[in-house]
Amino acid sequence: MQRRRFLAHAAALAACPLCAAAAGAARAAEGAGPAWAYEGARGPAAWGGLAPSYGACGSGERQSPVDLGNATPAMLATPDVDWPAMPLVMANTGHTIVVDATAYATMGLGADGQDWRLKSFHFHHPSEHTVEGRAFPLEIHFVHEDAEGGRGLAVAGIFVRSGSFNPTLETIFSAMPREPGLRVTLDTLVTPALLLPEQRETWRYHGSLTTPPCTESVRWVVYTQPIEAAAEQIQAFAGLFPMNARPVQPLGRRHLLLDFF
Ligand SMILES: [Zn+2]
Repeated sequence: MQRRRFLAHAAALAACPLCAAAAGAARAAEGAGPAWAYEGARGPAAWGGLAPSYGACGSGERQSPVDLGNATPAMLATPDVDWPAMPLVMANTGHTIVVDATAYATMGLGADGQDWRLKSFHFHHPSEHTVEGRAFPLEIHFVHEDAEGGRGLAVAGIFVRSGSFNPTLETIFSAMPREPGLRVTLDTLVTPALLLPEQRETWRYHGSLTTPPCTESVRWVVYTQPIEAAAEQIQAFAGLFPMNARPVQPLGRRHLLLDFF
């Protein structure tokens, strides 16, 4: 049986799992700023007006997600991903489950010559990016910082479709903290690289964070081939987060590239 250790602050919150302090902790885990939501008065259409620092959500011209249907083929370097096994540490932010990168893990994108360092990964239900208008049941976002520590981000997106059982997702979803603000540290190892699809073809474009403050400093790399998870596994996440996807944003003047090799 898995031994589970709660960090000190999570243990304190557990005494009052649904109180305002828990909600505040969830927000603090994502950075400062007013509360936002995926539906209702604080939903995506209102994000830009909730705070001056959220302005890009409303007026930005390089926002994410986008529809990935109409791409220009290009010869690009295949992402060089090194995401080794690492102890599983994850938090429920109130908006998603975030898994911390607890070991040195990187993604190289060739052209810029640098290794982007994996910071964490998280989940959306349904997918945020769409392909010719069609969404997938889940999308995983692997968030990488640049070598200098955060001026730019590179996010790898991987779609999940309903299909065969996924052992790696089971390790995560079977232990995910169910209350906002809770964080768990497990003895179990998780290997993020096992969540990569076999084919390494990707869409590339420049966009933004898909949550406030919607900062427009993200190199997006979205794999064209989805991975699979059993319908019950997808439902396990969807049960906690019935809707945590921002609607697609206009591509505008941006170029959407499809690398092939
Ligand atoms: Zn995301």
